[in-house]
Amino acid sequence: DADIADVDPEVAAAIDAELDRQQSTLEMIASENFAPVAVLQAQGSVLTNKYAEGYPGRRYYGGCEHVDVVETLAIDRVKDLFGAGFANVQPHSGAQANAAVMHALLTPGDTILGLDLAHGGHLTHGMRLNFSGKLYNVTAYGVREDTHLVDLDQVAELAREHRPKMIIAGWSAYPRQLDFARFREIADEVGAYLFVDMAHFAGLVAAGLHPSPVPHAHVVTSTTHKTLGGPRGGVILTNDADIAKKVNSAVFPGQQGGPLEHVIAGKAVAFKVAAGEGFRERQERTLEGARLLAERLTGPDLAEQGITVLTGGTDVHLVLVDLRDSTLDGRQGEDLLHSIGITVNRNAVPFDPRPPMVSSGLRIGAPALATRGFDADAFREVADIIATALVTASAAGADGTPDATVLSTLRERVAALAARFPLYPTVEQVGAT
Ligand code: PLP
Repeated sequence: DADIADVDPEVAAAIDAELDRQQSTLEMIASENFAPVAVLQAQGSVLTNKYAEGYPGRRYYGGCEHVDVVETLAIDRVKDLFGAGFANVQPHSGAQANAAVMHALLTPGDTILGLDLAHGGHLTHGMRLNFSGKLYNVTAYGVREDTHLVDLDQVAELAREHRPKMIIAGWSAYPRQLDFARFREIADEVGAYLFVDMAHFAGLVAAGLHPSPVPHAHVVTSTTHKTLGGPRGGVILTNDADIAKKVNSAVFPGQQGGPLEHVIAGKAVAFKVAAGEGFRERQERTLEGARLLAERLTGPDLAEQGITVLTGGTDVHLVLVDLRDSTLDGRQGEDLLHSIGITVNRNAVPFDPRPPMVSSGLRIGAPALATRGFDADAFREVADIIATALVTASAAGADGTPDATVLSTLRERVAALAARFPLYPTVEQVGAT
C-alpha cells in the first residue's frame, strides 16, 4: 500500500510541520499533553475499520471479538485507576461525555447549576450557545471578587433558591481544588445529582495528588487527553448501578453510533501507563512546575507592571496570569509568548473588563513540559523566560514595542530548552515521513 507521503503529500507535509512545531516550541496550553508513542500506534491502527455498536459481549455487529478485548481492558483499567464501579469509555470527547451524562439524568427544561464560563467553567456546564445552555435552565455560581475562590456558601444559597436537578463541579480555568464532600452535602440538601467534570485534573487524581471526586459524586466525567496524557476522548464513571444503566443508554444509542475502537485502544494503553511506574513522578513534576511558575510570576518585577497570578498561586497543573492592571492584554500576551516559541492561551479572568476575544488573562499549564521531562531547574528557566517577556512588553507600554534584543535572547533560551528535552526523538514512529 502506498505511503501517505505519496497518496497525500499535502496532509503529510502538514503532519510533519506539526511534529516539528511540537518538537521545537514549548507547549504550555494547560489542556494539552503529549500522548506516548504506544497511544499513537493504537490510534493509528486497523481498529479504525471496525464497527462495534453496542458494548462488549452485546454488539450489533459481527467480528467484534478483538475489539471486545480492547474495550474490556479499557473499562477494567479505568475502573481500577479511579476506584469506580462502572465506566463507559465510548464518549468521543469530553463534551460528548458531558452531553451523555445530562441526557441520562435530566429532561430538557430542568435546572442545572454550574460554574460560570467567565469564572473558569466549561462550555458544557451551561454556556448560552452550548447544548447545555440551550436545553437546560441554567443558573451559575462564580468565584468571589476578593479571593477569586469558589464560594460554597454562595453555591448553597443558589441551590436552595433555584432547586437544580444537577450541580456541576469542575472547571477549565481554576487554579485550586474544590471541596467535593461539601458539594455533595449541598446536592443532597436540595435533592440534586452531583456531577463532577474532572477533565483537567484527572491525571493528578489518578496519581493520588488531588482529592478524588469519585467517592462523592453521583457521576464523574473526564477527558483522556489532558493531565491524563492519553488520546483525545472522554470517559464516564459512577458507582451507582442505576445511573450506570442510564449512562450506557445515553451514550449508545442515545448520543453516538459506532464507538471509536482505535481511540478506545489508545485509552486502554493510557490507563495502563497512568497506573504504572513513572506516572506519579511525572504528575509531581507537573505540580512542581506549576508552583514554580506561580512563584516567579508573583515576583516584584511583575507586580510593578500590574501583573500577578489569580489566587496568588496554584494547587494544580496551571496558573492564571492576571493582566487586568497591566498595559498588556491577554491577546498581546499570547502573541508575545508565541513570538518567542512558547504556546499558551489567553483566557478571560473573572470580572474581566476586556472583551472575551481580547481578555485580561493567560492560562499557562505544566503537563506537556512535564511529559517532555522538565525538572525543577527547567521549569524555573521557562518561568523566568515568561516573566522577562511579560515585564519587557508591559514596560514598553500599550503602543510601544518590546526590546528586540531581549526577545531574541529569550527565543534562544526557549530553543535551548527544547533541544535539552527532545520530544518524539524517533521521528518515523509518529511523523508522516
Ligand atoms: N470539560 C472540561 C472541564 C474541559 O476543560 C473540556 C475541554 O477543554 C471539556 C470538558 C471538553 O473536552 P473536549 O474538548 O474533549 O470535548
